[in-house]
Amino acid sequence: MLTQAPRGTKDVLPAESYRWQYLESKMRAAAALAGYREVRTPVFEHTELFLRGVGDTTDIVQKEMYTFKDKGDRSITLKPEGTAGAVRCFLEHNLYADALPCKMFYLNAPIFRYENPQSGRLREHHQFGLECFGAKEATADAELILLAYHLLHDLGVSNLSVEINSIGCPRCRPVYHRRLKEFLGGRVDSMCETCRERFERNPLRVLDCKEKKCQELTKDAPSMLDLLCDECRAHFDQLQQCLTQAGIPYRVNSRIVRGLDYYTKTVFELVTETNEGKLTVCGGGRYDNLVAQIGEQDIPAVGFGMGLERVLMLLDAEGVEIPKTNPYEIFVTYMGENRLHAFDLVQRMRRAGIRADLDHCGRSLKAQFKYANKTGVPLTAVIGDEEAAGGNVKIKNMASGEEATVSVQDACETVRTMIGQERE
Ligand code: ATP
Ligand code: MG
Repeated sequence: MLTQAPRGTKDVLPAESYRWQYLESKMRAAAALAGYREVRTPVFEHTELFLRGVGDTTDIVQKEMYTFKDKGDRSITLKPEGTAGAVRCFLEHNLYADALPCKMFYLNAPIFRYENPQSGRLREHHQFGLECFGAKEATADAELILLAYHLLHDLGVSNLSVEINSIGCPRCRPVYHRRLKEFLGGRVDSMCETCRERFERNPLRVLDCKEKKCQELTKDAPSMLDLLCDECRAHFDQLQQCLTQAGIPYRVNSRIVRGLDYYTKTVFELVTETNEGKLTVCGGGRYDNLVAQIGEQDIPAVGFGMGLERVLMLLDAEGVEIPKTNPYEIFVTYMGENRLHAFDLVQRMRRAGIRADLDHCGRSLKAQFKYANKTGVPLTAVIGDEEAAGGNVKIKNMASGEEATVSVQDACETVRTMIGQERE
């Protein structure tokens, strides 16, 4: 128990954190290119925010939230998604008073959902998310879809498919709700238990069920796309024009409704096929009424969330190599009595900006070399008795075997030159 992390969580080990850092740097760059700036909000919020924001008929609120009372008897919930916190932050700090749109992103935000842990499904996962407040035009939706698509594509995820849909607005959706309810009415008995409940409270969500029998059952369900009002139709048309013009492959899929209640008009997912079936790596959409639902301002918005663990899973599945950095540029070895000379040299190197280390474990010279070799470090230095007596150090290129004996004073300069050659 003491040496086991809670179910559905995952450590990122020192030897693999470079993969995360690589992703994060690509994500930051993609967001910056489109003018999104980073926001950091707390890991927990008042439970009420999610009840209001995410919607109390969703799986997330009904089954998946980590909710507890704090010592002051307040109901607190660990973030089960990123948008509600971003909206709260946008309102609390009056960011709507600045020139809009207000574009923000969060990176590596921990998200908590009490789910059944399985491949690609954790109880704590991390999201890269973007939110654009104050932009009602479909170009904003399109820019987000394109940003997510190009990011994943450039990272090396192939066989990506972009699926889009429009779920209308409070003006046109009620008509659809009625039609859908009529259609589903005769089929309620064959649905899974959750869908029977959804049928009563939020029939649209039945289309989102992952159970095979429910998917089969709703195969011929009416489509929202046939009932969009003029405004929603024009918006959806413009979104498609943008995507077509950008030349990315996309598919209209009228079954995409997304798991959160706050969406209006555009919803989208970026999906890939894996050995274990379809995997959604990114999901998002427009939420024109959420800001008004949480605060007073009536401000349209659109955003997406992308799971970092799922992106890494896909990169693994596709055999994409992430550039690895060695922890050290040089490892300084020494004969026993020269430990302090080695320590001094390592400090000089670090002060000069060179990633250097020495043995702290009392190993023999031979074992130090063996260790250095194992780390894959490109250069080693040796301080034997002879070198120490002359105030020198011998530097060796591990790959070519080339060696140079230089004074300790000149060592940093020599290492820089040799590292430079390595990089070329
Ligand atoms: P799914 O349909 O797979 O349950 P979702 O619709 O619940 O996904 P969103 O709420 O849209 O997912 O979250 C955005 C992204 O976060 C997903 O596309 C996915 O990449 C990632 N994600 C969601 N839930 C998990 C989880 N439990 N473990 C790992 N990643 C997740
Ligand atoms: Mg889910």
